[in-house]
Amino acid sequence: MKNPKLVYLFEESDGTNKKLFGGKGAGLAEMTRIGLPVPPGFTLTTEACLQYYDNDGKLPKGLMDEVKAALKTVEKKTGKTFGGSKNPLLVSVRSGAAISMPGMMDSILNLGLNEETLKALIQATSNERFAYDAYRRFIQLFGKIALGVDEAKFDEILKKAKEKYRANYDTDLTTDHLKEICKQYLEVVKKETKSPFPMDPMTQLELAIEAVFKSWMGRRAVDYRREFKVTLDIANGTAVNVCTMVFGNMGTDSATGVAFTRDPGNGENVFYGEYLTNAQGEDVVAGIRTPKPISEMKKEMPKIYEELEHVRKTLEGHYQEIQDLEFTAEKAKLYILQTRNGKMNAQAVVRTSKEMVEQGLISKEKAVIRLKPQELEQLLHKRLDPNFKGTPIAIGLPASPGAASGKAVFDADEAERQGRLGEKVVLVREETKPEDIHGFFASQAILTSRGGKTSHAAVVARGMGKPCVSGCEELHIDLHKKEATKGDTIIKEGDFITIDGTKGVVYLGEVPTVEPEVSKDLLTLLKWADEIRTMGVRANADTPEGAKKARELGAEGIGLCRTERMFNAVDRLPIVQEMILAESKEKRQEAIVKLLPMQKEDFRGIFRAMDGLPVTIRLLDPPLHEFLPSAEELAAQLRGIKEAESALSTVACLTQAVKYLDPSVRESLKPLENIAAIIAEIREKKLDKILIQKQEETLRKVKEMMEVNPMLGHRGVRLGISYPEIYIMQIQAILEAAAEAIKEGVDVKPEIMVPQVCTAQELRWVYQMVEEVKIDVEKKYGIQVPFLFGTMVEVVRACMRADRLAEVADFFSFGTNDLTQATFSFSREDAENKFLPLYNERKILRDNPFEVLDVEGVGRLMKIAIEWGRKTKPDLKIGICGEHGGHPDSVEFCHQLGLTYVSCSPLRIPIARLAAAHGKLKYGEEKVFGKEDFNLAV
Ligand code: PEP
Ligand code: MG
Repeated sequence: MKNPKLVYLFEESDGTNKKLFGGKGAGLAEMTRIGLPVPPGFTLTTEACLQYYDNDGKLPKGLMDEVKAALKTVEKKTGKTFGGSKNPLLVSVRSGAAISMPGMMDSILNLGLNEETLKALIQATSNERFAYDAYRRFIQLFGKIALGVDEAKFDEILKKAKEKYRANYDTDLTTDHLKEICKQYLEVVKKETKSPFPMDPMTQLELAIEAVFKSWMGRRAVDYRREFKVTLDIANGTAVNVCTMVFGNMGTDSATGVAFTRDPGNGENVFYGEYLTNAQGEDVVAGIRTPKPISEMKKEMPKIYEELEHVRKTLEGHYQEIQDLEFTAEKAKLYILQTRNGKMNAQAVVRTSKEMVEQGLISKEKAVIRLKPQELEQLLHKRLDPNFKGTPIAIGLPASPGAASGKAVFDADEAERQGRLGEKVVLVREETKPEDIHGFFASQAILTSRGGKTSHAAVVARGMGKPCVSGCEELHIDLHKKEATKGDTIIKEGDFITIDGTKGVVYLGEVPTVEPEVSKDLLTLLKWADEIRTMGVRANADTPEGAKKARELGAEGIGLCRTERMFNAVDRLPIVQEMILAESKEKRQEAIVKLLPMQKEDFRGIFRAMDGLPVTIRLLDPPLHEFLPSAEELAAQLRGIKEAESALSTVACLTQAVKYLDPSVRESLKPLENIAAIIAEIREKKLDKILIQKQEETLRKVKEMMEVNPMLGHRGVRLGISYPEIYIMQIQAILEAAAEAIKEGVDVKPEIMVPQVCTAQELRWVYQMVEEVKIDVEKKYGIQVPFLFGTMVEVVRACMRADRLAEVADFFSFGTNDLTQATFSFSREDAENKFLPLYNERKILRDNPFEVLDVEGVGRLMKIAIEWGRKTKPDLKIGICGEHGGHPDSVEFCHQLGLTYVSCSPLRIPIARLAAAHGKLKYGEEKVFGKEDFNLAV
């Protein structure tokens, strides 16, 4: 039902209803209610604005009658008369939607001025210059906003007048100059609008109200709402605030200024702001005179300062939030014209949250909810110096946050070599593979031209906490020339570049960065978040160092240890290749035996680091060919070897040929003959033949293993079933490491996890291996080794058969990277830089589903799997270890799903801790179960 009342005096309206009264209107109402000095006025509701649009751009019937009635009350309160020839009431007409849209909509000041009221104003203020200046400003603003006159016409007049009278600033213009300008302004309006400037104040007010309503659909405002995703449920229509004008330019006992109740830059509890005496609000903004810090007011206007201090305390106490306010002192009387929640950077939010709890102003819960998990990212990673204003050379995907600079290097070996020499390098590749891992360690950051946010480069970089921009398709990378190009710009090996992985952009040169700021206050806030949240937070970590770091950041266990990462070390890869290329089971076993102690050592290190906490270890997942060089690479190497071999035979014949052609050079051929002898020896050994044969063998195997679609191919548990000896070795390594750690006195909680499972039978098959290995290990060590056995849920069929999987599994872990790929049938490697941006732009999809969990699709599958899984096993532990486990909104959703824990890369753990607490505070015990739809529905 429509609210029949559309106009409310400030003292009548509801300061908590920003949707109806707009943020500014609500603030004025609330301040009036709590007794702060607000100039009298009233608000036209957003409902009036919506009716204006429903009415084809006509003001709602009866609206102006309500306005007139409200004006009468304001007149009574102020003792002034609107349009009066004595002591006239002037008003400001300001827009104000539910959320602040700075500078996007229009406001008009000094409304009510005309030739008559001007005289009265002069009389009332005894200040002719001031009155004409106000008139000039009013004609210009009203002419532009309400009458649509091009602002440049007014500017032109003002500019000419200043030139003519040699006035540097507006303030240098005398009363006579201003009179002349006003006259010219009125003429311009008449010429442009073909009618005289409206002198009737009520007509002025009506036109101004209409103009403000119109500005809601103005180009600037519409663009702003689109850019900042301001949907109709956030703000629908603008309110209009009509407020008595007060003037800060009425002499030295008048002033105007803006202030924050605390320093928004660092959160310090000091009054922070600036003011100008004898000035109007615009003067502070326009920068004509340099404003003074508010602390100076203590000396210059002590009474006003004292009152402001009182306002500061009252506002903070009332809103329990830092306020950003505007004030004016008119002839030693203070007025507050606006208040709103202060915008602060993350550091300031953290400090003020902690201090406001200590002051008893807010609860710990409120302190936790004030800090947005997204903002935390600012504090956890190095970022570009905020003062840096450069233009990026290329834009890709923000794959791993943080910023770093270094010399561009195009292959992992070179990155490692330069890294060892102490050089800062950035590894630039089309895409990365496990064999590039040593290059990651040596690099400050990673840049790839292909692959999405769950590509190898992205996942590994996030795990290591290094910045990464992936899928930067604008860059053409030529690995042979060792350069990257975009148009005319070339990045050559050795050129400095800077990666901003938070934004996904690349700069040429070295850009200064600022260090992360993990303060004590932040740690306190995170501790409070831990007290609130009910969902666990674990880390995705694959090394003892990673595990240690994760624990320091608050991880309560490892949710995913990708064992394949351990295969990538430089000294291990050849053994892994040997294992893959082995022609017989026996040969494979020989390689496996070499890998066992290495894996065992890693696991033991992780168990030690996570003493007392669970460690989920996933058996080998990726297809084996990922550990081998590509067919193209091998073919190129083969060509090289063959060319070398033909070059050698040429050199061998060379001395003979020269002697034959010119016997006189016989003597000088001695050194050549020596070389030829060495070459002959090499050829004798047939080293080239052996090498060629080996390479051809590898190439054949690589071709044999090649799959059209490896992501859906021979990987995960399928691999474990085809090559059980690999899984058996890994299981043995886990259980033996656990046994040895127990003997050392470590409290181990291993969890063996099987990837890519789609049937309970697969799981049983692997469980059988575990059972057998366990018997041997327990016999060998003479102790029992506790462990849990579980499965990744990352294929659609696993969700559909969750009840059966739970018969075998002690726990589930949602692999939402693969589950998203499988649910959408979007390749996780390609979608993000092929068609997804267009999908987002055209609003076919709101978010990138590889970054933000798709609640409707993937989320629904998860919900089904959880329900069915827990029907079979009510205490089934369920986590998530896809990249979504560190995304704030997705973490909140996981809380609603009732997950036992989320698991994410170490640096995102603080974000996940905070987001889990937000989930609890927002939704409590409320779950998505039993509802028709999810709460977070798009
Ligand atoms: C997943 O699929 O979500 C997952 C964690 O596994 P990976 O990214 O290693 O495929
Ligand atoms: Mg997966």
